[in-house]
Amino acid sequence: MTDQPHDLLLAGTLTTFRRRCGKPGCRCATGDPHETPALRYTDSGRTKLVTLTEADLAEVTAALQRYRAARTALDRAAADGLAALRSRLAARRATGQV
Ligand SMILES: [Zn+2]
Repeated sequence: MTDQPHDLLLAGTLTTFRRRCGKPGCRCATGDPHETPALRYTDSGRTKLVTLTEADLAEVTAALQRYRAARTALDRAAADGLAALRSRLAARRATGQV
């Protein structure tokens, strides 16, 4: 089985995870911390991080965009549904039906 990255959906934001590894001789002890790309997401109200590699970035970025597009389409459909419900209720009231 191969992965199907075109179907992947991800909700969250890309961020950079910075850390000091703790090795005394490492450049991060005195200089810049190590930087790793990461996906930040919320699970049951808690923020969590999944660390990524540079190789994951394109796939994760595409999956985040797919999720945003799908959510936008769903929000638009829900707004249309609300408008349809409102106009149906208004029409029913106007004709005196309950
Ligand atoms: Zn280090």
